[in-house]
Amino acid sequence: MKAEIIAIGSELTCGARLDTNSQWLSLEMEARGWTVHRHTTIGDDKQGLIQCYRDAAKRSRVVLVTGGLGPTLDDITRETLAAAFDRPLIQDDDALAHIVSLFASRGREMPERNVVQALRPDGADSIHNAHGTAPGIHLALSDPDCAIIVMPGVPSEMKRMFHERVCDLLPQSPQVVTRALIRTFGIGESDVERRLGDLTARDRNPEVGITASNAVITLSITARAESEEACRTLTDDVSTTIKETLGSVVFGEGELDVHHAVGELLVEHNIRVALLEGTVTGGLISQWMTATDELAAQVGTSRISSEPQAPEAWLDHAQSEAEQLLKDGIADFVIATSARTLVETDGVRRLDGLVAVIGTGVKRSKDVSMTGNLAIFRERAGRAALNELRLQLSAAAD
Ligand code: ATP
Repeated sequence: MKAEIIAIGSELTCGARLDTNSQWLSLEMEARGWTVHRHTTIGDDKQGLIQCYRDAAKRSRVVLVTGGLGPTLDDITRETLAAAFDRPLIQDDDALAHIVSLFASRGREMPERNVVQALRPDGADSIHNAHGTAPGIHLALSDPDCAIIVMPGVPSEMKRMFHERVCDLLPQSPQVVTRALIRTFGIGESDVERRLGDLTARDRNPEVGITASNAVITLSITARAESEEACRTLTDDVSTTIKETLGSVVFGEGELDVHHAVGELLVEHNIRVALLEGTVTGGLISQWMTATDELAAQVGTSRISSEPQAPEAWLDHAQSEAEQLLKDGIADFVIATSARTLVETDGVRRLDGLVAVIGTGVKRSKDVSMTGNLAIFRERAGRAALNELRLQLSAAAD
């Protein structure tokens, strides 16, 4: 069943504040079997809001609204909702008593202005707000068949009201929605799409979406069915096809990054690494690999060097240093990253470097090159280095 979300507030549309409520609510609703098909972010504009509620009610079985329930003149959610469906605003005595008692509990008298917070459109219900002065509103319309549920804009109040009150007001969704993630590294977004063919076409069940972030391509498999079991069957089939098609570029499933996947392998097989980092990664790999005590125990040694070196000379030097560490039993593999170089061509700045993985009888290196900012370059280079180790370990296991 379809739901949509309306986030109200000029501070959102002017960019002063990011609308995080809609993201949070979408995840919550999807987990309960709802398809959230639209987000609207709108400023404090009377006519715009009235039209917005009317349009949303025609499109969706549930419309969740956040923001604009405060006592000030720019808080116009209540009056516009009442106007949109031709209802007078009436006072909710229980809501008013709660607001008065909330002020009293803080040792203050309620300002006259706050009385407006106890108003609701006739025929709607107030939703108790145990954590703030703004009650929510539940307006159940029959024509069109739609529940409009308004919550405060303050994210912490909205979240608690959603869990404590709103979940029970939602009509029962006839379906379950599940989402599974498959992560890949070392291949571009369009290449992934080309290889997967029409698996990523819209209007399929499950639906496969592709997103890219810092060179990690994520495939999200969204299944909709009458039960979790049925969703799992749909997902498993597609997931197997994706993994078979993409092969070794898949590094894991769920909310994990390349360094988590490599970390798991190191701990599981008790493999020790030494980390020799130049300015390409500048300590980022060491930071990742020492994030937990369990993982840090797999790090034989780690050092950062800021010495500039040409890539070829650097690789020879890294190799002899690595061979010594391997010989001394400090590590089973050495991950090394070079110094970075900055190349400027026609005003475009590009960062270059080299990453390598060296083990007994093993030497893998990879160029890393990118235009853009240093932090992103570092992350990408760090992942590229760890990914080489991952590929080496999986090749050895086959
Ligand atoms: P209150 O009566 O407590 O002020 P309200 O419903 O009037 O509640 P707003 O005044 O719209 O809420 O917003 C209160 C705070 O919550 C502001 O700091 C605002 O920036 C933040 N906020 C509002 N909407 C969102 C949103 N969609 N995402 C994240 N923050 C939001």
